[in-house]
Amino acid sequence: MRKPLVMGNWKLNGTKESVTALVNALKAPADKAAGKAEVAVCAPAVFIGMVEQLATGSSLKWGSEDCDIHTQGAYTGENSPVMLKEFGCTYAIVGHSERRDYHKESSEYVAQKYQAAQANGLIPVLCVGESEKEFEEKRTMDVIRSELKAVIDLCGIQSFEKAVIAYEPIWAIGTGKTATPEIAQSVHSEIRAYLATFDAAVAEKVQILYGGSCNAKTAPELFAQKDIDGGLVGGASLKAPDFTAIIEAAVANA
Ligand code: PEP
Repeated sequence: MRKPLVMGNWKLNGTKESVTALVNALKAPADKAAGKAEVAVCAPAVFIGMVEQLATGSSLKWGSEDCDIHTQGAYTGENSPVMLKEFGCTYAIVGHSERRDYHKESSEYVAQKYQAAQANGLIPVLCVGESEKEFEEKRTMDVIRSELKAVIDLCGIQSFEKAVIAYEPIWAIGTGKTATPEIAQSVHSEIRAYLATFDAAVAEKVQILYGGSCNAKTAPELFAQKDIDGGLVGGASLKAPDFTAIIEAAVANA
């Protein structure tokens, strides 16, 4: 039985004041969900130390929005998985479509980030998903299979025992256009079927989150789907009442 995971992705948002208020407001809902659903927030690197101080002692976990492939050295502006681990991160998002797009990160490079995160004790949250054009051309699974294959080739199928996958149709991210529960379920089930061609037990166990305009209204029906194990939430994770309602939807379907 897979435990649901609800993860916030704050992106490039937050102030010291808003981060303090948000983390303080999420500790009780995370504690209440504990045992039934996991709750985490992925913060801009500059806030991770603050989140650590605020959330330590609660059930709220935290992570980074990205992670470099190197552990240290002359890589200006990057954040090493070793540093992220030292600041208590559990998770590192890798391959978010905004990084694949704006930073031209290839699937092979994302696989290296996934590997570096895992090698240093972080759980990579591997984002996969198709553009609107690819969706219309019915190429969703071609895209996702190639994004997954890059990781399988570098790290092996067993690596998914300590990883999370997030299906994020790019056309649904930040657009208010959520994939219908039927579309999302069908893609999640195809992802699991693809992984099962390598290892059925790993495919059954891995958490696959849905992301893309997931909010308090859409979460209950999405999370009720058999292969949807929670959500990666952008915009709605910045508002404590909305994110709390999403956590409650995950608990209701646990
Ligand atoms: C995301 O950035 O991962 C995301 C799903 O964003 P939003 O919920 O705002 O669509």
